[in-house]
Order: sequence, then C-alpha cells, then structure tokens
Amino acid sequence: MDATKLHAIDPAPGASGGARSIPDVRELLFGDLWPYAPAPERNVWPIAERYGHFLDGEFVDGDGWFASVNPATEEVVTHVPTADAKVVDRAVKAARSAYETCWRDMPGAERGKILYRIGRMIQERSRELAVLESIDNGKPIKESRDVDVPLVAAHFLYYAGWADKLRYAFPGASVAPIGVAGQVIPWNFPLLMAAWKIAPALAAGNTVVIKPAETTPLTMTRLCEIFVEAGLPPGVVNVVHGAGATGKLLVEHPGIDKVAFTGSTEVGKLIQRALAGTGRRLTLELGGKGANIVFDDAPLDQAVEGIVAGIWFNQGHVCCAGSRLLVQENVADALLAKLDERMATLRVGDPLDKNTDIGAINSRAQLEKIDELVAAGRDEGADMHQLACPIPERGFFFRPTYFTGVTQSHRIAREEIFGPVLAVQTFRTPDEAVQLANNTPYGLSAGIWSDKGSKLFSIAGAMRAGVVWGNTFNAFDPGSPFGGYKESGFGREGGRHGLLPYLEVTG
Ligand code: NAP
Ligand code: MG
Repeated sequence: MDATKLHAIDPAPGASGGARSIPDVRELLFGDLWPYAPAPERNVWPIAERYGHFLDGEFVDGDGWFASVNPATEEVVTHVPTADAKVVDRAVKAARSAYETCWRDMPGAERGKILYRIGRMIQERSRELAVLESIDNGKPIKESRDVDVPLVAAHFLYYAGWADKLRYAFPGASVAPIGVAGQVIPWNFPLLMAAWKIAPALAAGNTVVIKPAETTPLTMTRLCEIFVEAGLPPGVVNVVHGAGATGKLLVEHPGIDKVAFTGSTEVGKLIQRALAGTGRRLTLELGGKGANIVFDDAPLDQAVEGIVAGIWFNQGHVCCAGSRLLVQENVADALLAKLDERMATLRVGDPLDKNTDIGAINSRAQLEKIDELVAAGRDEGADMHQLACPIPERGFFFRPTYFTGVTQSHRIAREEIFGPVLAVQTFRTPDEAVQLANNTPYGLSAGIWSDKGSKLFSIAGAMRAGVVWGNTFNAFDPGSPFGGYKESGFGREGGRHGLLPYLEVTG
C-alpha cells in the first residue's frame, strides 16, 4: 500500500479554504487492477401500481393518489391514496369494533400465537421485505437485510412472548389494555418503526390505526398481507396513508385513546399541544443530536468503527445517530487520521448493491436540508472533510462528511442534520466532555469509548440521554428500552418498559 497516496488530500472542487476531500482509496489502490464488479440484489417481487388503505382487514381504494419514489433512481415505485377525515374515521371505528368484539378479550396466549406467526412470516419473507425496503427508502440492502428486517421479526417475537404474561410484567398490579392506539411513524426505518409501534400495542390487547410516512409506504402494504395470512382479526391493525395532514387527523381523532408518534421535535410539540387537556395518552420519540465521546484510553480502532456505525449507518437518517464526535484533545489527530483511512473505504451508491455502505438520501427535500446545514457549517467557519468518491448521476446522494473546527455556536453542532455529516469537537477533561455532551436541547443517545469500566459507568450516569452505549454504538435489541429526555420526547419503546404506554396499570 502506498501511504502517500492514501493520505494525499486534494481540495474539493470549488471549495473555499477549510475544505478537503479524502480520496477513495479503492480507486487509487485497486482501480486498474481489480475493477469494481457490482453485486446487485434483484427484485423479483411484483410491485402494484397502486395500494389502497388497509381498513378492517381489506385493502380499500381512496382518493388523492400520490407517488412514492425510489430515491436512488427517482423512479416512481407505487402510489397510495390520501386519507381524509372520513377514511380516518372509518379506520378508527374499525379499530374500536375489533377492540371491543374480539382483541381485548382474546386470551393472551391466543394473541401471542398470532404475533409469533407474524414474526415467523416476516422471517420467511425477509429477503422480499429487505429488497422492497431498500427500493422505497434508499437504505443499503446489507442494512435492510441484516439489521432492519431481523429486528422487525425480533420485535414481534419478543412481544408475542409477553402477550400471556402481562400480569407478571408489573408484579402486584393489575393490567388492562387501553383501547385504540393512533400511531404515526417516519421514513427512516419504515418497517422497524411499524414493528416498534404495532407489536407492543397488540401484545397488550390494544388495536391500532397507523400512518406510515408519505415517502415510504411500500413495505407496510406487505406487512398488512402478512397480518391477513397470519389470521390477525380484521380491524386490529388499520393503515391510513397520507401526508402530515392525515397524521394530524389521526392523532386528533376523539376516538383514539393513546397516541404514539415518532418524528421531528417540531411536529411532536404540535401534537403535545393538540392533546393537552384531552386526557389521552401520548408518547413521543423525537429528534436527537447524540454525542459519541472518545477518551484517550479508548481502543481507537474500535472507536472508529463506532463512529462509522454512529453517523454513517442508514445515511445518518437515525434519530439516535452519534452526530457529534467529542474526542479527547491529545488523541484527536490520531483518531481522525484513522477515521480518514476508514472513511476512504466507504462505498456510496446503489442501495441494492450488496457492497454498498451508504445508500440514497430518502428524498430531495431531505437532501436539500443536508445541503443547507453543510453550507452553514462552512459559512460559519468550520472545516469540511469529505470523501471524494463517485456518486450516481441520478438519485439523491450525499458523500460521507465530517467537520472539524466546530464550536458550540455552530448550527452543525446544535441542529439535527439527519444525514451522513459528523461534527467533531475536542475536550480536555471528563467534566468538559459531560458538559459538551449535555449541551443540547435533545437527549436521546450517547456513546462512550474508554478502556476503564469505572469511567464508562460514571460518565454514563452523567449523560442526560435515554440510551447510552459503552464501547459500541447503534446496538439494538427488542428487550432493551429506547426513548428520550428533554426535546427528544418521552415514553419508552422496547422491553418491558415498552408495554407500559399501552397498559392501564392499577394497584
Ligand atoms: P416528521 O416530519 O415529524 O414526520 C414524522 C411523521 O409524522 C410522518 O409520518 C409525517 O407525515 C407525520 N406528520 C407530519 N406532520 C404531522 C402533523 N402535524 N401531525 C401528525 N403527523 C404529522 O419527521 P420526519 O422529518 O419525517 O422524520 C425525521 C424525524 O424523526 C427526525 O427528527 C428524527 O430524529 C425523528 N425520529 C425519531 C425517532 C425516535 O425514536 N426518537 C426515530 C426515527 C426518527 P409525512 O410523511 O407526510 O411527512
Ligand atoms: Mg419512497
């Protein structure tokens, strides 16, 4: 390996001072020797021109059809209708009727059987679900295949286990379901967010009306097919499609007993305002600006893998992303040199290619938001470091990027970018690291890298964040609760804690 080539840095074309591009090493080292051979996954599953709402166990046509596009090609994938007040009302009534006539009173073991069946069918159709998720969302197939879909199945299987053991979840108390849950989810993990919402609600004996994000409705339709095949009674899960206005109709519908929302802090605040005083239950999973803290005693090579997983997994469209790297000053240069080398191996491109590390940005609107914040980072004087890799001509793509010379007043240090862009800051003492990490209106996640267990635990205890990882990042398990502090929301999903929002617990 030619080290001078590896570290050769050219200024990014058109960039002012404070910007450098990191060459794609594979092109440098292997370009002529071993030209890259794409390894795309094929889609062999038909996608219909249109999918209706899913009401009372059936797909139902509607009005106001809109397209979902493949963000990697900008081609139309399918169309779904927009639910108006009438459709939302019909869905809520179907859910109420299913709640009162069968699901609430069905023995937990029977509910559990259906949830187990759903989990197993997801596993059986995992390849199809992964391919379709990557087509509609833009995430790399290796992530939808190895992370999203296995976790979706795991959530159904995990909560299936609780369905007949609810009285043991909160010992000494009696538990009962709440009623009809209205759920609204974002586009970054379409199937996984659906599983996080639907599985605990159903296990606890509630019924559901859910609205997927407008840019990623496709895999929800497959999930509905699985519900039918698994014998889920009609009306237990209803799906209404549409944009924010449909979400608003759903969460404000008086027939809803409990609202669960995952999305932006801005919309979360609107929902909280609308529900204030109604007595309806609410959980909010909102945005984040997670700190990934690397101490000078940390194993740096492992920390680099954690930084990559923290900010470049799912194109950085991750609420709990480690979007702020806080590194102890005396190891900052060494760590960033290793990060450059690792970053130079990332492959950006076709989400269906099994070698792709970073797929497409989910929408043009999201790409514009990332562009705007990156421009603000440069204008405000931070130094941009960006991988100089080729990206496809069509579709929405953004190269992995990090900024140094970042101060707390910079927008890139404070605002959620929700893209593959990392803000790097340095610190000298553990106290300073804690102060910097908590200096954000958000409080969703944090990562700590250190060789010392005592340091990990003491810093973890000082984090105002719902999830704290030690020497790892973005690790998920259905048995582990997830949720936020401060403007990242309230309520927990996952684990025993995730049952609580869906149960009336008394005594
Ligand atoms: P968003 O605009 O808040 O949208 C989220 C969902 O809410 C979408 O289904 C959206 O519909 C709908 N919606 C929009 N306006 C609404 C309203 N007034 N009332 C009810 N529903 C409404 O968020 P996003 O930009 O799509 O998603 C990214 C955000 O989600 C990020 O901030 C991220 O951090 C957060 N997130 C949090 C978690 C977590 O667990 N904490 C997980 C994933 C993502 P449309 O699809 O039509 O816009
Ligand atoms: Mg789409």
